[in-house]
Amino acid sequence: MKIILLGPPGAGKGTQAKLISEKYTIPHISTGDIFRKNISEKTTLGVKAKEYMDKGLLVPDELTIDLVKDRLSESDCKNGFLLDGFPRTVKQAEALEDFLRINNQKIDTALLIDVPGKLIFERMTGRRVCPACGASYHVKFNPPKIEGKCDACGSDIVQRKDDAEETVRDRITVYEKQTQPLVEYYNSKDQLFVVDGTQSIEEVFNTISNYMGSKK
Ligand code: ADP
Ligand code: AMP
Repeated sequence: MKIILLGPPGAGKGTQAKLISEKYTIPHISTGDIFRKNISEKTTLGVKAKEYMDKGLLVPDELTIDLVKDRLSESDCKNGFLLDGFPRTVKQAEALEDFLRINNQKIDTALLIDVPGKLIFERMTGRRVCPACGASYHVKFNPPKIEGKCDACGSDIVQRKDDAEETVRDRITVYEKQTQPLVEYYNSKDQLFVVDGTQSIEEVFNTISNYMGSKK
């Protein structure tokens, strides 16, 4: 199963990706997570990516596309994958399509988690993440059992730098200009499934699971 998760920042892509990848045993590939790992390890890529991410801008296509191609070439992606946060531009989507076509493959579905702008802001500013294990929470909608501590590993959870209010505004604008055109891109190829992302985490997951089940 080859799935792309589309949606504005804060729509719930990472939250659903974790659930979907567990259910279907496919790797969850988040370009944002890969960049954050490189930043924490201070690699050359991390230093370059940080400049853009801190401002809420997209990391240039030249850096992002090759990274994803390399990741998709790894053996665990043979039977499928779930892309979270990629593609984010039409150029990235075309590069992915070309890459898969060379191997006679194509994606099964682009799942759009649809959430209106006014809800996104609250989702993003309330998001907290675990720097140690990557688990994600929300102060109101998905709080950890003990305030400020990760359920999975007990570390202190933190706010992502790019989830600060000023940067969130810029990220939403970037999404509307650069990523939203992908909705029509996949719709025109009959590969789009839209899920109402205003539902609870469980309801969104059930809707996606039912749809994936119906496609088999
Ligand atoms: P994305 O990966 O699309 O940027 P996340 O999965 O990190 O988004 O979700 C953003 C925030 O919203 C997180 O704090 C998450 O816990 C919360 N969240 C995710 N899905 C829902 C939902 N259906 N209802 C309420 N809050 C949600
Ligand atoms: P995310 O974790 O998906 O919210 O991504 C965090 C940030 O990483 C984004 O705001 C971008 O700066 C960068 N990023 C992640 N994925 C991509 C991508 N496909 N193209 C360009 N930049 C990306």
